[in-house]
Amino acid sequence: MEPEGLNVKMAEVRAMCDAKGFSADPERIWEMLALIHTEVSEATDCYKKGQPLKAVGEELIDAIIRILHLLSALGLDAEAIYRHKMAVNWERPYKYNTVRGG
Ligand SMILES: [Mg+2]
Repeated sequence: MEPEGLNVKMAEVRAMCDAKGFSADPERIWEMLALIHTEVSEATDCYKKGQPLKAVGEELIDAIIRILHLLSALGLDAEAIYRHKMAVNWERPYKYNTVRGG
């Protein structure tokens, strides 16, 4: 079956990571999780320092790439999970009934 939606991007990311020597072996899962944080931190730092929004966006895309790589390493159906979570979130109340933050 051909991949669809997010799974298309996940396959692209996996192909690039494989080609560039970035393993998706199970022993790297903890490292891959940590590296997602680093990209979000880089985006935070770019924004804090007033760098162009394009630079912030590039770091956020780095985070997405790392997330897709991890989802692939875990053998998950990213598109199915995305659709499920969006449906769940649409059913939640306004601001998810949070009092602070959100
Ligand atoms: Mg980066």
